[in-house]
Amino acid sequence: MLGERSLGRLIRDKGRKGRRGYTLPKPDVDKTDLEQVLPQKSLRKEKPGLPEVDEPTAIRHYTNLSRKNWGIDTNFYPLGSCTMKHNPRANEAAAAVPGFASLHPLQPEKGAQGALRVMHELQGFLSEVSGLPAVSLQPMAGAQGELTSILMVKRYFEDAGDEGRTTVLVPSTAHGTNPATASMADFKSVEVGLDEHGCVDVDELRALVDETTAALMITNPNTCGVYERNIAKIAEVLHEKGAFLYMDGANMNANLGRMRPADAAVDIMHFNLHKTFSTPHGGGGPGSGAIACSEVLAPFRPDPVVEKEGELYRFVCPEKTIGRMSTFHGNFGVVLKAWNYIKMHGPELRDVTDMAVLNANYVRARLRGAYRIPYDELCKHEVVVQPPKGKKALDIAKGLIDHGYHPPTVYFPLVVKEAMLIEPTETESKETLDDFVGAMLELAESGQEELEEAPTQAPTRRLDETRAARQLKARW
Ligand SMILES: *Cc1c(COP(=O)(O)O)cnc(C)c1O
Repeated sequence: MLGERSLGRLIRDKGRKGRRGYTLPKPDVDKTDLEQVLPQKSLRKEKPGLPEVDEPTAIRHYTNLSRKNWGIDTNFYPLGSCTMKHNPRANEAAAAVPGFASLHPLQPEKGAQGALRVMHELQGFLSEVSGLPAVSLQPMAGAQGELTSILMVKRYFEDAGDEGRTTVLVPSTAHGTNPATASMADFKSVEVGLDEHGCVDVDELRALVDETTAALMITNPNTCGVYERNIAKIAEVLHEKGAFLYMDGANMNANLGRMRPADAAVDIMHFNLHKTFSTPHGGGGPGSGAIACSEVLAPFRPDPVVEKEGELYRFVCPEKTIGRMSTFHGNFGVVLKAWNYIKMHGPELRDVTDMAVLNANYVRARLRGAYRIPYDELCKHEVVVQPPKGKKALDIAKGLIDHGYHPPTVYFPLVVKEAMLIEPTETESKETLDDFVGAMLELAESGQEELEEAPTQAPTRRLDETRAARQLKARW
């Protein structure tokens, strides 16, 4: 809609008849000849109504539009659950190296040994980070990594002749993609409640798990930013009944080098390479939802995986594969950036996690008092807060826009009323966090009327969100 209006403005306000921003050579085809060759219905009857402007005006118009775009390079972007971290430019440069960027997916293995080596090494790195022996880089997004994992679990039970496994358990804090994954894989998704720390209620879980349970999908730390301290116990409850523990690893920014899912007896997990290991995201991609799993589930991985035979890297089809999850080999550019990011950090990868946890807890400590903190204990990489009584998360979020910040995630997780999920990430300085906290504290004190006015400094005022959802116009 912005496009339509702004183009309209360019034509109406800036356009002058006959003004040109380009020079084209004279056509070397006769107009009457063309009219004979082209089908009548394809011939334009009227002029297209394009803006008639000079080149600087056109360039300024689009440059100004681009500056209305918000991004991680514009300012602080504490969007909870999304890990909007700085992505080193060196990794973008690596992904743009022509030998990689121009590689054709059907290139014979022998001519793509460098790329296969990167994939093989990343499989190894992710194995080391997770403690799980087998990896697949094929899923194109976190949600597809979830689906891949749950389909593998399903195939495992089919292969074992265990036909009664019809349910997947999902905690009430879960990201919406978790129950959606369970349904897409044709399981019934059953919700598990929380204890007073915002963690999975182990007693409730014990009552729910039986021989119909295929898996529990757990996020750790969970979407309240709280570490699931009972995860080993949870694994035990599931394993006793022959079910699997799947971990949604989108929050691995809080675990790197500190917690290996395999040590908590996780059987299978997905990574969000685009959240944890450097790829700019938002707006829909590209991403990678690489998975890691135990020996038992390894034969069910998507086809193909990369193995090394002698000196040669090869694509190999796992023995009982679920098939392909994408046409070729996943988003190779994202794989390359993750490889580079891990190589850059080396053994210091755990600093990422330490700083992410420190930053989130700093924000928590500084907001305490002005904001309500439902789980006011050591959090991991993100923290949930609630506005002061009588104020709305939406109004504070809009107010933050006037202070120059992208608002945190609001109204998620669903289990916390008026939730604001703040994820400062590890790449932000103390000064940035202090400025952000300053804005939050000021907004907590602001009058209601003033808050409801916000944003006044943004290119658009408050949008009609109901209409935007019901009559979405994504193009013009
Ligand atoms: C982002 C996220 C996902 C989904 O990842 P996509 O790449 O967006 O599909 C799943 N679970 C959690 C907890 C997430 O934060």
